[in-house]
Amino acid sequence: MPKPLPIAWAGIPAADEVKPMLLIVPAPSEGQVELVLLSRELVGVWTHWLHGRTQPCTAPHGCACEGFEISRRWKGYLGAYLLPAGQIVLAEITWIAANKARLGSIERHPGDLRGLTARMRRHRRASGGGCVFEILDRDRYPDARLPGEPDVRAELQRIWNSKGG
Ligand SMILES: [Zn+2]
Repeated sequence: MPKPLPIAWAGIPAADEVKPMLLIVPAPSEGQVELVLLSRELVGVWTHWLHGRTQPCTAPHGCACEGFEISRRWKGYLGAYLLPAGQIVLAEITWIAANKARLGSIERHPGDLRGLTARMRRHRRASGGGCVFEILDRDRYPDARLPGEPDVRAELQRIWNSKGG
């Protein structure tokens, strides 16, 4: 009988460790995407464009911008259901797009974006190629038919903790 191999047996991951990370979806460079919003409200973050990717500003708790001139960019994130594929993602929009869509406006959307349908695209290159976010005038999806509301802050923590977005 051969001697047993000295295998280094390991544990198995707990359920939350294998949960896939949500994809961050900015306005596509061509075409458009349609989304059903799962978040009730927008989450805003100051970010920097560093090493070829978006990273959150962590000032005054140790950030590359402390003591240096590095520009900050605001980004807004919403949990959303990508149509028609049905993937749950984090839609990423700019300050101008969020402002134009009046996402914080009480008169149109009283702090509750959940169930609304939106379209995300870019302006034509001639006018700068910026992000466009439009709430579509369609019936709101009933809450009970939608997946749960993602914890956008917790999801961003996971993404930026692991690879910097
Ligand atoms: Zn910073």
